[in-house]
Amino acid sequence: MKNKVSKEFEKQFGTTGTLYTAPGRFNLIGEHTDYNGGFVFPGAIDKGIYAMIRPNGTDKVKVVSLDLNDSAEFGLNESDAPEQSWARYIFGVCRETLKRGGKVEGFDAVFAGNVPLGAGLSSSAALESCFANAINDLFNDNTIDKFELARIGQSTEHNYCGVNCGIMDQFASVFGRKDHLMRLDCRSMEFEYFPFKPEGHKLVLVDSRVKHELADSPYNKRRASCERVAKRLGIETLRDADMAMLDAVKTDITAEDYFRAKFVIEEKDRVLAVCDALNRGDYETVGRCMYETHDGLSKDYEVSCEELDFLNDVARECGVTGSRIMGGGFGGCTVNLVKDELYDNFIETVTRKFNERYGHKPEIYPVIVSDGARRLED
Ligand code: ADP
Ligand code: MG
Repeated sequence: MKNKVSKEFEKQFGTTGTLYTAPGRFNLIGEHTDYNGGFVFPGAIDKGIYAMIRPNGTDKVKVVSLDLNDSAEFGLNESDAPEQSWARYIFGVCRETLKRGGKVEGFDAVFAGNVPLGAGLSSSAALESCFANAINDLFNDNTIDKFELARIGQSTEHNYCGVNCGIMDQFASVFGRKDHLMRLDCRSMEFEYFPFKPEGHKLVLVDSRVKHELADSPYNKRRASCERVAKRLGIETLRDADMAMLDAVKTDITAEDYFRAKFVIEEKDRVLAVCDALNRGDYETVGRCMYETHDGLSKDYEVSCEELDFLNDVARECGVTGSRIMGGGFGGCTVNLVKDELYDNFIETVTRKFNERYGHKPEIYPVIVSDGARRLED
């Protein structure tokens, strides 16, 4: 990947530049918790964006996307937004840096990646973090702090790409650390690293390649349920609720709202339980919590779908340590923690059975927890 990018840079621009990379991410546990002031627990993965960049002494940016076989050229003023949606991620990062008083000058760049696009591993955050970090290094002497780099990526999605995302993806891509996951408190924005070294296990994402809900409405409905229950409890978010409080108002709220809030409260506690388990190296407990999250998302939060429940059932049958829906639901991936000796059988079985049932194979992405955005020394 690095060689491909630098070779093409040489070909396009007749010189060499500096290499940067930033990863995609996965989330071990903590789903639908962000907007409830709870915890998420992501880690960076060994798939990312690789870019070679060199200031060109002009006020224009010239970028080549190797994967999309396309190129773009744009200025740095607000009115210079490029047409191509992929280039808007880079333009947005430049603009958001400038808006914060950072420095950006013209540069040449070639980039490529191996994060699958739109599979839930956050290729867009990888792209943003790679360029935000590079701009910080090349033009700002690394004076922009890392949290601000993540916010630059998030604001890029909001203001230039029409995606109203939270901070988790960019946070994980910037702060990722090999063999560690990061528990981010979505209320205080404080975070803590926990060791994640599942020796004897593999981490694998199984992508159903289905997406059922195109509209935002189910997501907004879940949020509304959570907000209603929090209001009834007289608290700001469900972060401050426990099951005793919820049970005390059970008869005043709808059954639907009750089960939505129950999932959120239990999920918050599960994240904390998983952190304790990781400190002990207890991956059986981690796995059990993953299955509990799946069941909660499926039965109480009702954001699963037939295909994801099928993937989860097959994982259980194959003796997989832990398996759950990853992401918002209604399609996308499951994340699976699998013992080494069961891995080949699981992949073969889940691929075959899913294909028999749904007429297409799932995509399989083994991942290793890796470092965040950085410059690559050559
Ligand atoms: P994801 O869940 O992978 O983040 P998004 O739809 O948010 O999915 O972002 C995918 C978009 O990011 C792509 O459509 C493209 O515009 C941009 N992108 C990501 N990776 C690449 C890449 N390797 N080359 C070009 N553009 C990319
Ligand atoms: Mg994205």
